[in-house]
Amino acid sequence: MKYIVIVPDGAADHPLDSLGQKTPLEAAETPNMDLLAQQGTVGRVKTVPRGFVPSSDVANLSLMGYDPEVYYSGRAPLEAANLGIPLSDDDLAFRLNFITESDGKVLDYSAGHIKNKESKALIDSLSLKFGSQQLQFYHGQSYRNLLVVRGGAKLGLDKVKYFAPHDIMGQSVEKNFPKDKRSQEIVDLMRKSGEFLENHEINRVRIDLGESPANMIWLWGCGRRPNMPLFRDKFGVSGSVISAVDLINGMGKIIGLDVLKVEGVTGYYDTNYRGKADAALKSLETKDFVFVHIEAPDEAGHNQDLRMKIICIERIDKFVVGPILKAMTTKDFRILISPDHPTPVMKRTHTNEPVPFVMFGSGIDYGGYTSYCEKEAATSKVYYDKGDELISFFLKK
Ligand SMILES: [Zn+2]
Repeated sequence: MKYIVIVPDGAADHPLDSLGQKTPLEAAETPNMDLLAQQGTVGRVKTVPRGFVPSSDVANLSLMGYDPEVYYSGRAPLEAANLGIPLSDDDLAFRLNFITESDGKVLDYSAGHIKNKESKALIDSLSLKFGSQQLQFYHGQSYRNLLVVRGGAKLGLDKVKYFAPHDIMGQSVEKNFPKDKRSQEIVDLMRKSGEFLENHEINRVRIDLGESPANMIWLWGCGRRPNMPLFRDKFGVSGSVISAVDLINGMGKIIGLDVLKVEGVTGYYDTNYRGKADAALKSLETKDFVFVHIEAPDEAGHNQDLRMKIICIERIDKFVVGPILKAMTTKDFRILISPDHPTPVMKRTHTNEPVPFVMFGSGIDYGGYTSYCEKEAATSKVYYDKGDELISFFLKK
């Protein structure tokens, strides 16, 4: 049996006045997903356990079949695993975002989705200025980078609450610094980075070009190295993961999935959708499981870009779901589509409600649903209160 999981990150949403009370999933033209709904099962899954922040790492852990209450240890260690950065037991990894600060407020959590070449140069500069045996800077992708604090767990830095920059857009920088005394050094570093980056040559050029300057770093997502069993030991199948996002790839590495690189993936609207489908199909020639993650709808939600959110959902339907369905000539396959969490455009951030999923294939019930969307899912009796149990069911022989 071949198993395909497709995750349109953040695709779930709420009914919108401007769409006549339709959601983006409803308004988008998704003939392939709707076909799956008509011939399969639509339901809801709670990917974010109670008491957890609805972040992509928590929600994707659930979708991959790992209970966050047991396995979650922060976002940055997963991204560190992806970059092959070794962490010992006392080391902590932080996500380092390049942000745009203006008048003491967080203007852009991504510094205008700064290009790799520029963010790499800024990381090198920060490393020269602030790096040490204890503080190590690593370039990841675009605005998503890492800081490793060697021995940071001994200082209790992971016991402190940090805020995600995409959740505090438009809000005061100072008010969103961690409050705990133990994190004073981290706060100082963020403040000093602002002074240092403000006058950096790269930022002067960015400002001249009318681009958002990367004039501060924001540290969050702190955690230790996680301890997770391998996917094939847990579920009895081996497979691959396809994503532009470091944390998803890092998760894949930790649980022993092959992390496939696809040319032209960006983690943004313009990603190589068709390339992901082709890579998924190729991987299924030798392995039985593939997890295809597409970040674009989430970014549209954060940017409150309703038009792009609909377009990205349509692209996923046309260039990912469509080609995969067309190529699956064997009857022996199952496909599951589920966002990790909603990223409603009106909220510009993640919410923790259950998400709609659709499942189709060999041995999957046929429920007479009309389309794949939140409302249809809400009428279904199929509901997983523990997110990790959805994939356990999906992978059951
Ligand atoms: Zn997001």
